[in-house]
Amino acid sequence: MPALLDPDRRRALADRIKYYNELGIYDFYRRPVSDSADVVQSPPLLSTSASFSAVEATPDAHEAHAGDPTTALRLIREEIGDCTRCRLHKQGRKQIVFGVGNPRAELMFIGEAPGADEDEQGEPFVGRAGQLLNNMIKAMGLRREDVYIANIIKCRPPGNRTPERDECETCSPFLMRQIEVIGPKAIVALGAVAAKTLLAINAPMSELRGRWYDFRGTKLAVTYHPAFLLRDPRQKKETWKDLQMVMKELGLKTPEKTPE
Ligand code: URA
Repeated sequence: MPALLDPDRRRALADRIKYYNELGIYDFYRRPVSDSADVVQSPPLLSTSASFSAVEATPDAHEAHAGDPTTALRLIREEIGDCTRCRLHKQGRKQIVFGVGNPRAELMFIGEAPGADEDEQGEPFVGRAGQLLNNMIKAMGLRREDVYIANIIKCRPPGNRTPERDECETCSPFLMRQIEVIGPKAIVALGAVAAKTLLAINAPMSELRGRWYDFRGTKLAVTYHPAFLLRDPRQKKETWKDLQMVMKELGLKTPEKTPE
């Protein structure tokens, strides 16, 4: 028989579940109640893939590691495991591309999906688009290791096709938890897939960019995807305007030289 919860704990748990429901997470799994004080080893409370519908009254990975984002991120990565939650695991992906950068970053960049280079190396934005993103970050007076970089989905779609909606819905709850752990001051959505998935708005890029959005209490800006800028370099000027808006928000000084 499961232990009965006292009313305060029950209320706190109900609030927590409501919060995760708002993030789009509905499935939870049970774990045995343990007396062990070693919370680092504990599996996280929530899973997007699991099929049980009950929750134990134990703290989740984020709560247990609220002051330690490195450990909290590691636990999210461990929970993802060798993911088979969507079709992409059997469509040629080599590995999961989790995310990279400063676990306490003030600025997060979120792209669409890993490409061939990222799939090969297990790190987001390491190909040609990644080189351009690095230049954008440098132009803001930051280093790649100062920011955190991730994608809406963590597996390469075959032939670099656009991710399907259900793939984004299955994968993005893990990104939501990464965002929650890192707690950036600002997020930059790179391209339409990232912007539309995060904001749930269907509008052209020209309308989406150039302004701030409130993303669950965090400021979010939209700009062009670096891969698009490689195809249409004329839009770099507009992108630079978006990045300057972000720099202003973060109190970053405009470097003397703007990107070419
Ligand atoms: N394009 C993306 O959206 N993400 C990457 O990681 C690489 C290219």
